[in-house]
Amino acid sequence: MKKLAFIKRSNGSHWVGDGFPVQSIFSYSDIAEEMSPFLLMDYAGPTNFPPTTRKLGVGQHPHRGFETVTIVYEGGVAHRDSSGGGGSIRAGEVQWMTAASGVIHEEYHSPEFAAQGGAFEMVQLWVNLPAKDKMAPPAYQGITAEQIPVVIVPGGAGTARIIAGRYGDVVGPAHTFTPMNVWDLRLKAGHQVSLDLSAGTTTALFVLRGAIEFDRLHTGRAAELAVMERAGGHLEFAVSEDAKLLLLNGEPLHEPIVGYGPFVMNTREEIAQAIDDFNRGRFGVIRQ
Ligand code: MN
Repeated sequence: MKKLAFIKRSNGSHWVGDGFPVQSIFSYSDIAEEMSPFLLMDYAGPTNFPPTTRKLGVGQHPHRGFETVTIVYEGGVAHRDSSGGGGSIRAGEVQWMTAASGVIHEEYHSPEFAAQGGAFEMVQLWVNLPAKDKMAPPAYQGITAEQIPVVIVPGGAGTARIIAGRYGDVVGPAHTFTPMNVWDLRLKAGHQVSLDLSAGTTTALFVLRGAIEFDRLHTGRAAELAVMERAGGHLEFAVSEDAKLLLLNGEPLHEPIVGYGPFVMNTREEIAQAIDDFNRGRFGVIRQ
């Protein structure tokens, strides 16, 4: 059984552009090795936006060396990038954007959501790429709710939406470069949950709502991340309040991480190259 390593609280809040009031849940600048292959996670907790005709969000900026995964719980997000990828996603949908060798993209509230206003809740994850794939061509996967299979967690404990990875025979739709599980869990209070994962993998549970307990001693609450030790195959915890959780599980990369702003590579030379390539306009342009 996997033991709880620690519970991580948010690093504080900031705005990404004028559309995304986020808490920084973790970053490779504080816990890199423990979370590999996951680099960073920002959480925009439920926030109300009034209807507007303004474009709220973050304008054109580059990325290289990893993937950005945007999970929308409430509201809507529109994305466009220089590889020609783009789309608008609503509650229950996911954008899995592979920056790899480099894109310029923009991220805004979707026009439909902006016009209507209301509650907005979103997670953005940065998922690292192995060194051999950091310069692969960019790609974009817009994943609809219908494409994400829903599994019943044994004992009537609730449901798991398999965004990426595998639960028993059920396979999630996201293409990933390395083996990982990204599951949206909805669990009911009073249940003990046991999930089968591989020994040696990184495992963390992010609590969006409710509370979970480990060994009756440690409680993970809203906006907290429970990080498990790598040893052991089963993940076990108790649901003490009806909970909405995001499970992150994956094979660690064991490669050096050198990051600078929107670029995450393996060496300082590669970062210098990324900055140079960006300054020379080699990341392309977003076609209007
Ligand atoms: Mn971005």
